[in-house]
Amino acid sequence: MNADFLITNIGQLVVVPPGAGPKRGREMRDLGIVRDAVLAARDGVVVAVGPRDEVMPGVTLCPGASVVDAGGRLVGPGFVDAHTHLVFAGWRHEEYAMRSEGRSYLEIAEQGGGILSTVRATRNATLEELEARSREFLDLMLASGTTTAETKSGYGLTFEDEVKQLEVVRRLKEHHPVSLVSTFLGAHAVPEEYKGQREAYVGSVIGMLPEIRRLNLAEFVDVFCDAGAFTVPETERILRAAGDLGFGLKVHADELEWTGATELACRMGATSCDHLLRVSDEGMDMLARRPLGDESTATHTVAVLLPATSVFLGKTRGAPARALIDRGAPVALGTDFNPGTCTALSMPLVMTLACSVLHMSPEEAFTAATLNAAWAVGLGDRVGSLERGYEADIVVFDACDYREIPYRFGWNPVSRVYKKGREVWSKRPVVED
Ligand SMILES: [Zn+2]
Repeated sequence: MNADFLITNIGQLVVVPPGAGPKRGREMRDLGIVRDAVLAARDGVVVAVGPRDEVMPGVTLCPGASVVDAGGRLVGPGFVDAHTHLVFAGWRHEEYAMRSEGRSYLEIAEQGGGILSTVRATRNATLEELEARSREFLDLMLASGTTTAETKSGYGLTFEDEVKQLEVVRRLKEHHPVSLVSTFLGAHAVPEEYKGQREAYVGSVIGMLPEIRRLNLAEFVDVFCDAGAFTVPETERILRAAGDLGFGLKVHADELEWTGATELACRMGATSCDHLLRVSDEGMDMLARRPLGDESTATHTVAVLLPATSVFLGKTRGAPARALIDRGAPVALGTDFNPGTCTALSMPLVMTLACSVLHMSPEEAFTAATLNAAWAVGLGDRVGSLERGYEADIVVFDACDYREIPYRFGWNPVSRVYKKGREVWSKRPVVED
């Protein structure tokens, strides 16, 4: 076995063994832990992994191969952030201050806050300004161990301004080590110029889809389906048009109120439905049902939970992670990084909240932040695991045990990050002199 990249002296390796689809129920607890492990890669793909004594005799290093000594530390797959709103201008700290003093969402909106204030700022920003800011955010994500992230438009709400956001993502895809999955979220809010004309705006969003498809600017289409946002029938119209054009589907579902958005997402074969604070029993049962037919090609609708958002908003009740997992729904995690409702972009922090607030186990949180998040963005057969054949997206942690990652919170546990077998971020040398 020829390798051009080798990590030796791994004290504890988290493999997250893949299956035909996202992990469900008890499967989410199987991290495939290997002690005293090595991992070899070639051309950015894992070619051998396992206990040192078993793997090393079969590995031949190519000339010039890079060899990393992990110093007995914990090593795992790069994190996959299944839900972000990376590209935006401005912040909303005034709104946060108002909310901390108990003002309602309505009062804040009346004073010009909310999504539409970010829309105004983003429309006024140039593509270059947005790109520079987004790159900084992406650098911070990488430093927290994220090697793949989904990101949405939705702060433009005109064709030109949505394309401007998606164009930023296209540029970052070419130049930044973090792999990005692009989602068109024209149906994030009804813009001011369409006030009182919802129907017309839904038509306008549907009208943008063919050109976004032609320009190849997004893999997914998402709709904010909730009280005060888009209705279930409006969401269905948009998703049907998107599905006909070949987009994958996502839904911001049942966050503020139960509307039946999760049921719709499952019925329409969406790749994920996200938030789910108010999901119904029926919605959970639909998520728990395995798709019929060939597991490897069927669409599994993944439940993406975003606990940093509910904590940031001061909600005492998060999404029902325990009920979802116990019923057999595949659960993934994301940051929901955005200027209004979640300014955190660290997946280790999200894992802490998943364990402390949503009562997931550290094993479930690890699976949800890696392999299941990869399935939630359509990449579950390529990233989110360190099994042979997966991309060598690897984090070396300043820790010895995977449970330390959610347990020790509020600091960055990441020591080094490798993307496709290449070092892309380092806190300090893994082995000091
Ligand atoms: Zn969101």
